[in-house]
Amino acid sequence: MEKKPFVTRDQVEEIVKSHPTPFYIYDEAGIRRNCEAVRKAFSWNKGYREYFAVKATPNPYIMKILGEYDIGYDCSSEAELVLSDAVGADGSHMMFSSNDTPACEYALANKLGAIINLDDITHISFLEGIIGKDFPEIMSCRYNPGGVFTLSNGIMDNPGDAKYGMTRMQLFEAYRQLRDHGVRKFGIHAFLASNTLSNEYYPKLAGQLFELVAEIREKLGIEFAFVNLSGGVGVDYKPEDPCNDIAAIGEGVRKEFERVLVPAGMGDVAVYTEMGRFMLAPYGALVTKAIHEKHIYKEYIGVDACAANLMRPAMYGAYHHITVLGKEKAKNECVYDVTGSLCENNDKFAVDRQLPKIEMGDYLYIHDTGAHGYSLCYNYNGRLKSAELLLGEDGRISEIRRAETLNDYFATFDGTVFADKLISK
Ligand SMILES: *Cc1c(COP(=O)(O)O)cnc(C)c1O
Repeated sequence: MEKKPFVTRDQVEEIVKSHPTPFYIYDEAGIRRNCEAVRKAFSWNKGYREYFAVKATPNPYIMKILGEYDIGYDCSSEAELVLSDAVGADGSHMMFSSNDTPACEYALANKLGAIINLDDITHISFLEGIIGKDFPEIMSCRYNPGGVFTLSNGIMDNPGDAKYGMTRMQLFEAYRQLRDHGVRKFGIHAFLASNTLSNEYYPKLAGQLFELVAEIREKLGIEFAFVNLSGGVGVDYKPEDPCNDIAAIGEGVRKEFERVLVPAGMGDVAVYTEMGRFMLAPYGALVTKAIHEKHIYKEYIGVDACAANLMRPAMYGAYHHITVLGKEKAKNECVYDVTGSLCENNDKFAVDRQLPKIEMGDYLYIHDTGAHGYSLCYNYNGRLKSAELLLGEDGRISEIRRAETLNDYFATFDGTVFADKLISK
């Protein structure tokens, strides 16, 4: 689909008077529309809940908007639990889906009453060493079926190579042990493919998990409270990518539910999701300014953001569409590499990209960076993290996280280093 920025050049020229580039900006109206669509798609399931994957966009202002739709939070670390607690979530709205988990984090998750989703069978005794024999009433296990995960359009991902979850045999044993620890209600969780661009992914995963929980229930006599389909619903980063239809996805899951769980007498099981990318990616953008052009063996445009602000292109070779604001209708007559300033040659937001002719001072809008964008920022080369802004439904801009300053960057040194030369900016 054609990619349209949710801000115009005029708006950005206004914004930069108080918030210089580069900055992330999020579209409140878009986020809310999508929350409604997700809720509607799964409204057939009485207990349905989305647990937003906090790691995608760990900003409390964004999290609060999601919370208004009764969305919970999927956490994998202490900081994410603390954030969820800070925005007012109770335990039933926190899913703790961690792996390689430090003891103190299990302790905190348990204290907050979060639903603990165990990544491995050995974590049962690990957890007992932390919280004793008094296990929570409800617990979940993460499943890894191994092999490859395929849909009709081919291999989607390779669970057999992934570090997460338990084998099928371990899963049965884990539920047996948890049952013997007094756990009364159970969940299952699996994340088998990432950024899927097919309405088949959730339904196929759901069908497999529904069949599995029906079998486990029968063999072990335990009751399932939920099936957690986790994340992995993708977005169309490229204009030519297929676009996921959440209504069709919800309907596909419903059909599997009717096929498997209803006849098994499990029609009261809740379906949970933990989407990150699908909830936020399209509703965030990184806005950056062209500050240099360079003509050597290739044509380069240097911008004031770098991979430290947005790591996905450098890290995964990920495509992010770029619009030159104000030149939406112009012909893509030039071919550029769009680069940041890091002393790393992979610091390129685009390689051989056809774009309109760019002038110095033009604003580049990097699409679909609302998830796994800011949250992957780092400080290499002493680069500072940018601000996050929210475009409100009323058109007003609010700063929901300020940009880092050098003082933030140096804050972890003891004071003696800069005793004479405290840097302020
Ligand atoms: C990362 C993650 C998600 C979200 O994945 P998306 O691709 O953003 O949907 C959900 N659950 C778990 C356990 C994760 O690690």
